Amino acid sequence: MREDFLVFGRPQIEEDEIAEVVATLRSGWIGTGPKTTAFEEAFRTLIGAKYAISVGSCTAALHLSMLVSGIKPGDEVITTPMTFCATANAITHVGAKPIFVDINPKTLNIDPDQIECAITDKTRAIIPVHFAGRPCDMQKLTALAKKHNLMLIEDAAHAIESDTPQGKIGTIGDLTCFSFYVTKNITTAEGGMITTNNAEWAEKLKIYALHGLSHDAWKRYSDSGFKHYEVQFPGFKYNMTDLQASLGLHQIKRVDKNLKRRESIWRRYDEAFQNLPIKIPAPTSANTIHARHLYTILIDVKETKLERDAFQHELFKRNIGTGIHYTSVHLQPYYRDVLNYQPGQFPAAEYISDRTLSLPLGPSMNDQDVEDVIEAVHDIFKTRASVNSVQVEIET
Ligand SMILES: *Cc1c(COP(=O)(O)O)cnc(C)c1O
Repeated sequence: MREDFLVFGRPQIEEDEIAEVVATLRSGWIGTGPKTTAFEEAFRTLIGAKYAISVGSCTAALHLSMLVSGIKPGDEVITTPMTFCATANAITHVGAKPIFVDINPKTLNIDPDQIECAITDKTRAIIPVHFAGRPCDMQKLTALAKKHNLMLIEDAAHAIESDTPQGKIGTIGDLTCFSFYVTKNITTAEGGMITTNNAEWAEKLKIYALHGLSHDAWKRYSDSGFKHYEVQFPGFKYNMTDLQASLGLHQIKRVDKNLKRRESIWRRYDEAFQNLPIKIPAPTSANTIHARHLYTILIDVKETKLERDAFQHELFKRNIGTGIHYTSVHLQPYYRDVLNYQPGQFPAAEYISDRTLSLPLGPSMNDQDVEDVIEAVHDIFKTRASVNSVQVEIET
């Protein structure tokens, strides 16, 4: 058994970004500044969007996207219940109501064929989430948005690398929101980005993210001399800082290399688990790039004789950290009690919610870490088989 605990989602921090953070600290300019602008430009180039606006988190990105879309109290916004709470919370932040639509249990993405039934005269937008980095069916989603005159705001927190026949994620919808939280494919500790091709929204987003001050107000104390600003909107404090951008500027250079590493760990897991009584992620459809953010297995007690939470605890005892992505948001107390969502409403999301378990997957893992995870998973079945004489097929 592994001696030290393998932390789930441990970030990969290298010497280049450590040196950049230190240089920023010594420079005297640690807030929003030239490095933030440089990171926005690098991100915009990577995605291929016309504009990229940095913010303090993906949650802030989603909130501001709701605002520039003009979504108001009483409006309805369609999204998936199989997501992090921030997606639904951002809808709630502007007083609108999240309308959940069930997922496809294979892709774990919102089922585009069930969306139309949920559209009412109050619906203003659809927020799809590219779960684990597997791109949603953008052809169907853009067609639906166009037909019903809805905004398409994408939660691409897992999807920096995702690509589709319709284009790269971040270039298709009206506004696309990315996350640089600690566990994400690239990290600035906390941070987010919004991409759009709409110049007017890009300008508004910058203003809304910094108190509602006139554009480029961060330069007011710079060496170009003090400039007066105007308050154009009661905005938010959602700006990214140069300290965060110092991490992002180097993390972004490793996007391709790190995706290849995650793809290779993914293949190793697929091969190692194929004869165990657990379900592994569905294969990726042709012509798309899956960003491989989360490797989620399904633990079905009928097959494993062990509930998901017990299975997770067995891995914990073997020093393997795991995650659960996600408990279906409609089952969370606020959404259940205040918005009256009920268990049973979204059977596919609930099926996944009860069984899903995310194994460690990331470029900070070495080959031994990967083998430790595999060995721990196999060991659970071996020990269970001997203790309870449960009939399970074991591949060694
Ligand atoms: C992480 C995450 C968010 C929130 O991102 P933050 O940057 O932490 O605000 C939103 N949606 C999904 C799907 C996420 O995984």
